Amino acid sequence: MARKKRPFAGETAAERVERASEIAKRLSEGHPDAGVALRHTSPLELMVSTILSAQCTDERVNSVTPELFKRFQAVRDYADADTGELEEMIRPTGFFRQKAKSIQGACSAIAQEHGGEVPREMDALTSLPGVGRKTANCIRGGAWGIPGITVDTHVKRLSRRLGLTDHTDPVKIEYDLNELLPEEIWYEFSNAMIFHGRRVCDARRPDCPNCMLSDLCRFYHEEYNDQKAG
Ligand code: SF4
Repeated sequence: MARKKRPFAGETAAERVERASEIAKRLSEGHPDAGVALRHTSPLELMVSTILSAQCTDERVNSVTPELFKRFQAVRDYADADTGELEEMIRPTGFFRQKAKSIQGACSAIAQEHGGEVPREMDALTSLPGVGRKTANCIRGGAWGIPGITVDTHVKRLSRRLGLTDHTDPVKIEYDLNELLPEEIWYEFSNAMIFHGRRVCDARRPDCPNCMLSDLCRFYHEEYNDQKAG
């Protein structure tokens, strides 16, 4: 049986770094408006918004947070809140019971163990209920500009399609991307990848013919063209 053509199979580590750098450059130019779409004015608001954004659009989160942030302004406000009231306010974001539990658990821990301030350290953040590495990187980058790659569903899908990783585990993908790109662009790169995933590289119908990355993309060379030919 003839072997499938694999244009990126023989790529050296240095070539992959070069390709990743070109991908990052084009994404930055192609999505200059990429950034955190969750409206916030403090690390606490960003943490709450990020927890609410699981399985929910940023627009929907932004539709509930103005009232929420007016009602609850400090970690103690959330920690001591009536759970039913909090659930009701965040209900439109879905999974509201679990999200309320995460928010109250995280805020209680911050009040008790971090003097009421959202911690910056990765270990401290990921020890909070409802906060994994993805959320922690989002908070650290958005609130303090600390480098980190947020591996959400878009970054995961694009990284694999582009051939920048073969892993499926988000933490392993994050480490692979860390190796390929300088840390000063990690945060900006993940935001641009998220925008590209929303606008061009859709999960079901990637718009490969109109994609600025097609010549650099493993999926396009190895699968998209085959599907077209088939
Ligand atoms: S070429 Fe296609 S699969 Fe590759 S990044 Fe672009 S849209 Fe996604």
